[in-house]
Amino acid sequence: MFDNLSLKLDKAFQNLKGQGRITEINVATTIKEIRKALIDADVNYKVAKEVTDEIKEKALGEDVLTAISPGQLLIKITNDELTALMGGKSEDIVIEGNPSIILIAGLQGSGKTTFSGKLASYLKKQGRSVLLTACDIYRPAAIDQLKVLGEQVGVDVYAEPENKDAVKIASAAIEYAKKNNHRVVIVDTAGRLAVDEEMMNEIARLKDALKPAETLFVVDSMTGQDAVNTAKAFNDRLNFNGVVLTKLDGDTRGGAALSIRRVVDKPIKFVSTGEKMEAIDRFYPDRMASRILG
Ligand code: GDP
Repeated sequence: MFDNLSLKLDKAFQNLKGQGRITEINVATTIKEIRKALIDADVNYKVAKEVTDEIKEKALGEDVLTAISPGQLLIKITNDELTALMGGKSEDIVIEGNPSIILIAGLQGSGKTTFSGKLASYLKKQGRSVLLTACDIYRPAAIDQLKVLGEQVGVDVYAEPENKDAVKIASAAIEYAKKNNHRVVIVDTAGRLAVDEEMMNEIARLKDALKPAETLFVVDSMTGQDAVNTAKAFNDRLNFNGVVLTKLDGDTRGGAALSIRRVVDKPIKFVSTGEKMEAIDRFYPDRMASRILG
């Protein structure tokens, strides 16, 4: 993950090798290379510029006679800036209300259904009683997929295959949860291949009706700049609480992880790193920055 970006950043820092101190002149090349590395990794241009301007300003403002070398100093500053860019601290999922409702939104193929199963398993391991709800009224296969995942992780699945009203299905699921002492209801929704009005209306209707404690936007990190644009479109309409980045195990260049927080101002809460139900992790900006810098 992020191998190319890590290599390019490492190369950028090499420019400062053997330099006794940071100057306007010797830092300029490094900053330019960091910016290029970020843009090559699909980081939004404006974000890459802002971040590298901040790194440069901090580097020039540091006392040059410290014990650490200019290269090490720049790595430290870059690490701090990337951590801040990704939100600084880790933010946990909000569980609130009885039942607590978690609405899962995103495009088709982003990994919503897989993530719903993973989240159910994750919350079950915390000792919570969870109900999965299938609200993809367009793809019967999505209902079956969720049932299979529910069985796999030992979580009850609520579905009404004949019902084409997502709000009614979800409302019935909440009643079912109350009767059966499920404390968390995860609502998996329909997605389209691209942002469209009908999908947005439906998910917005679900959010208005269910008043979820969490609305999580799931996005495929491999889609780079598109991931950021889709996040913006969903956030403008839904005002979601958090982001889930999927397929971080793939050949992603990292741009989505690095840009989304700054562009939509919502925390990345989870990452998904594979097809298995265990491949779910909370997102820690500092750990991700350290991994990128190698
Ligand atoms: P949905 O249409 O948004 O519900 O997407 P799915 O959950 O059906 O996922 C689409 C495809 O991506 C499936 O083949 C999943 O197995 C796969 N997938 C989901 N999450 C991940 C992940 O984190 N890593 C990898 N490699 N594949 C994933």
